[in-house]
Amino acid sequence: LFAGEITFVKGVVAMDGLPAADRPEMCFAGRSNVGKSSLINALTGRKALARASNTPGRTQEINYFDLAEQAFLVDLPGYGFAKAPVPVVEKWQRLLKSYLQGRVTLRRAFVLIDSRHGVKAVDEEIMKLLDTAAVTFQVVMTKADKVKEQERAKVLAQTRAALQKHPAAFPEIVLTSSEKGDGIATLRAIIRRVTLE
Ligand code: GDP
Repeated sequence: LFAGEITFVKGVVAMDGLPAADRPEMCFAGRSNVGKSSLINALTGRKALARASNTPGRTQEINYFDLAEQAFLVDLPGYGFAKAPVPVVEKWQRLLKSYLQGRVTLRRAFVLIDSRHGVKAVDEEIMKLLDTAAVTFQVVMTKADKVKEQERAKVLAQTRAALQKHPAAFPEIVLTSSEKGDGIATLRAIIRRVTLE
């Protein structure tokens, strides 16, 4: 991704815990189980890296990874988990809003969408938050290896249609499979480009 080390920096539970805003950052959002950890592992080439953020107790934290001191990769907690108690969800939504609206170095958000399921109501909610915060976001389809060509085309069309309603949406959709490696190089290139912009 970049020449240099990729390391876990910290898990953040409140705005005052954010690391110094001294480099560009990009965040990754998606429903629980969308394949976010697998994607971050594939992007960074570090198998155990994003697992740290999937362990119980870590799941409501904003997890920061340092990309060779050039950029931060930010792993946002998976959403749409009906099991989480209401106060936990509300606290998380407040933090998410503050983060998206207040983080000046946030360059782009990647919203992960499962290639089998397409855009769901909870994804729409995140997209609306991103519109409000004026954070440009780009959709990344995950688990592309799990669907056949015809199904993929259908979900892609549905996703494109959904994105038209969102002024902050970037039109290009990236198809990925962490399992097969599809789209990983493309996404890495986007991360490098956005960092250097
Ligand atoms: P997270 O909750 O969003 O972090 O999701 P995970 O990365 O833990 O993935 C959830 C499940 O989907 C796991 O069983 C993964 O092995 C599987 N998975 C993730 N990415 C892919 C992929 O690209 N292809 C396939 N076939 N399975 C995947």
